[in-house]
Amino acid sequence: MIEISHVNKWYSPTFQVLTDCTTSVTKGEVVVVCGPSGSGKSTLIKCVNALEPFQSGDISVDGTKVNDPKTNLPKLRSRVGMVFQHFELFPHLKIIDNLCLAQQKVLGRSHDKSVTKGMQLLERVGLKEQAQKFPAQLSGGQQQRVAIARALAMDPIVMLFDEPTSALDPEMVSEVLDVMVDLAREGMTMMVVTHEMGFARKVANRVIFMDRGEIVEDAPKDDFFGKPRSDRAQKFLSKIL
Ligand code: ATP
Ligand code: MG
Repeated sequence: MIEISHVNKWYSPTFQVLTDCTTSVTKGEVVVVCGPSGSGKSTLIKCVNALEPFQSGDISVDGTKVNDPKTNLPKLRSRVGMVFQHFELFPHLKIIDNLCLAQQKVLGRSHDKSVTKGMQLLERVGLKEQAQKFPAQLSGGQQQRVAIARALAMDPIVMLFDEPTSALDPEMVSEVLDVMVDLAREGMTMMVVTHEMGFARKVANRVIFMDRGEIVEDAPKDDFFGKPRSDRAQKFLSKIL
């Protein structure tokens, strides 16, 4: 579903942020990406839906090359759900309207259809009663669940998450992770930057460990937690577990 092949990226001629990154996420797979701050996790995941350009290598999503100038990027992005650390809801729109806007503008769905879909998804993330509120009236955990529902409203073929729980108060982390676990168990293809190793243990198929722009480790979950091959991954794990 996602093929990342020998990707190199420089932010400046002297600063290489990604070095020869190669990995893939197959359909229905959940891949967790972890690693120290500044290791390039966000940059890599942003390259997948072309929010960041890269200088060499290839990335394709469902067979469409994201770095091909002929690719219709808005169309591609409409199929790739992205959830960020800071929920980035539209503050001036009610929750239900947050869920409907792109359905109507990008997918051309009717008002009624998009509202029906939006309400179904709000129910799924436990927020049906909040539909008429504005984002600022919701807790951080609720806002992040709305952000997930908004991404799902586009019927994405993959979901990308960049530290979706790291801006939340501790007591709100699990309500967001629960939604993500359900999604994983339903077979959604997911690439998730997170340090929530409980989530990784529960639903990840593979864990990728990045350090200084390189994919240092890319292993099935049990191998990763059992005995990470590299010193760097071992040190990292001993710090966060
Ligand atoms: P964190 O865990 O803190 O989110 P990360 O692994 O997601 O870190 P990135 O955000 O991908 O790391 O950043 C990788 C490196 O690239 C860092 O050194 C960062 O300072 C640098 N960087 C990120 N964005 C830019 C940019 N737009 N211009 C220049 N350098 C950048
Ligand atoms: Mg990051």
